[in-house]
Amino acid sequence: AQAVPPLVPQPARPAVKQEYAFEEWAEYAELQGRLRQARSGGSNPYGRSHEGFNSAEATIGGRKVVNFAAFNYLALSGHPQVRQAAKEAIDQYGTSASATPLLFGETPLHHELDAEIASFLGTGAAIVFAGGHATNVATVGHLFGPEDLIVHDEWSHDSTVRGCVLSGARRRPFPHNDWEALDRILTALRGRHRRALVVIEGAYSQDGDIPDLPRFIEVKQRHGAMLMIDEAHSVGVLGETGRGIGEHFAVDRADVDLWMGTLSKAIGSLGGYIAAREPIVEYLRFTAPLHIFSTGISPANAAAALEAIRVVRKEPQRVARLRELSDFFRDGARERGLDIGVSRASAVIPVITGDWEKTMALSNSLLEQGVNVMPIGYPAVERDKCRLRFFVNVDHTEVDLETSLDLLV
Ligand code: PMP
Repeated sequence: AQAVPPLVPQPARPAVKQEYAFEEWAEYAELQGRLRQARSGGSNPYGRSHEGFNSAEATIGGRKVVNFAAFNYLALSGHPQVRQAAKEAIDQYGTSASATPLLFGETPLHHELDAEIASFLGTGAAIVFAGGHATNVATVGHLFGPEDLIVHDEWSHDSTVRGCVLSGARRRPFPHNDWEALDRILTALRGRHRRALVVIEGAYSQDGDIPDLPRFIEVKQRHGAMLMIDEAHSVGVLGETGRGIGEHFAVDRADVDLWMGTLSKAIGSLGGYIAAREPIVEYLRFTAPLHIFSTGISPANAAAALEAIRVVRKEPQRVARLRELSDFFRDGARERGLDIGVSRASAVIPVITGDWEKTMALSNSLLEQGVNVMPIGYPAVERDKCRLRFFVNVDHTEVDLETSLDLLV
């Protein structure tokens, strides 16, 4: 056969220069070291996948296990009504929004979802972005600039920190939950910036504790700063009816400027939102690069989130049951002498196991005995604070929780 000549004459390739040989990068070598370590405890837990719903139960390798690795707290991602709504949305609108939100990428469902979030949380308005992580990067990175100051909890999620870096603002982390330290930072830097933003979380994702919100509100008011709360792990979980940490502490909605949350956890879908006063939302809608230049959540995601919020409204007993089970698990862990750190009120309960090898080995041996829980290590947490992170689910039973704790012991 004749060789096909290239369409465009190709110059001879020069030898790859050392700095472009990716395999030689120090960062890549470091990753290889960590992966070797991950494999040393048997199989690598990060390669597991779920073969059905990711909820109180999961199927791994054809075997049903008790599952603590899903932040599907209210089991809404597999809820029949939520699934039905998503299916109908696909049939009516297709599988993609097919344009960016500002440029004809929204269906009536997207608008209904914005209104539903605002009404559920009691803010004037809300806007949904594609992805919770992206929402933090986009909002913090867009609303603030180099003349501003952003002070955030030292345990803040990666997405908030990246938003701060993108903004170019002066960034000061404060010791975890320490509103007095925050007060001191804002006092020391008073008058040295255009605007100040304080960022905290409704429930911390690796430790499961909650901030003393009323204190933070006092501090932010004293300094005329804006306050943003990331409710990724608190919406649908905290408060009598799942409206989050604002409901938990019965604070005035207007006392927090930016209520951020994700639709991927208790709400069983995908996306992030900012619920706030109408002018803030209007500004984001017309100027946030993520809203203008990136396609929004799919119609199915919008329909699922909308239906899930309606289920939470109709069935607040789900939230109460989740709280009961989370407290039961916390009490059971403590009674057995396990270290659950500072976890309280939320459905995130870490069992701190110390070093990495031990944590990996525990995760692998628990799986062999029918319990799936993910090991968390550096850089998500400090090297000596490795842990198994348990997400409690409304469909767990007391027996699931006790059996799993006994196996862990
Ligand atoms: N904020 C916090 C505190 C989180 O834990 C997460 C979840 N990974 C996010 C933001 C990002 O949310 P999403 O996974 O929906 O992008």
